[in-house]
Amino acid sequence: MRIPMRVLMGHWQPQQCRVTGYLPGEGIMPYLTETYHSTRIQVGTIVVHPLERTAQEVVEVREYPEDLWPEKYQKAFADYLEAWERQASVSRHAGEHPERSTWDQRPLNLVMRPADQPSAEPSHWTVRGNRPFYVLPEHYSVCRLCNEIPPCNHVTTEAMVDHEMANTERLMAIPAGCCLGCGEPITSRMKAVRFPGPNLWRPDWGTDSAVFHARENCSGSVSFYRQQWQEKGHDELQPELPEGDA
Ligand SMILES: [Zn+2]
Ligand SMILES: [Zn+2]
Repeated sequence: MRIPMRVLMGHWQPQQCRVTGYLPGEGIMPYLTETYHSTRIQVGTIVVHPLERTAQEVVEVREYPEDLWPEKYQKAFADYLEAWERQASVSRHAGEHPERSTWDQRPLNLVMRPADQPSAEPSHWTVRGNRPFYVLPEHYSVCRLCNEIPPCNHVTTEAMVDHEMANTERLMAIPAGCCLGCGEPITSRMKAVRFPGPNLWRPDWGTDSAVFHARENCSGSVSFYRQQWQEKGHDELQPELPEGDA
């Protein structure tokens, strides 16, 4: 199975969700129209759990009493109000005075239960009012082995390992001195980005040997390498872009 990179990189997205759901409540997406792509969550809507890859049936959405807002939300509202007041003092277009009861980022109490266990005890979650949810179709599918919404953790992990192996194979095939991005030679007339220190992708090339073309095509690899390179604490050394002619 081919998994898109954004899934591999941590932005998991269920394969079967085409609809984004928004919570009910005053001030939350007030102009939302029901379309093929967006809907208002109701009792009975099946959403993907925000932390797990499980299907959850919405049992209830409750407003929080204002004096019981969790600390984090109190603080966020105070900051929001302060920013609004600053804006309102210099502009007539700051909009209406923010109210807790209609603030779209207020906490809501979302009550859900596993969609396949109608008699299970529902669980309560505090969620930001304008937080979008993946909405599952009534006939949603799950992985037969782990019951997760596809792609399940096993599949994404497997895909990551496969991707990692393919990447290692590709890197090992690059001749020494060539661009670690595209694998092609870097002639003396081409601009290049060199990273000092150990070569993170081809340690066998020795120190100060990581090099890339300084061109658009290879810039993705450069930023990927730079990120890993900085994580290793090498950012006190500057990658150099030689003056040279283009
Ligand atoms: Zn699975
Ligand atoms: Zn290149």
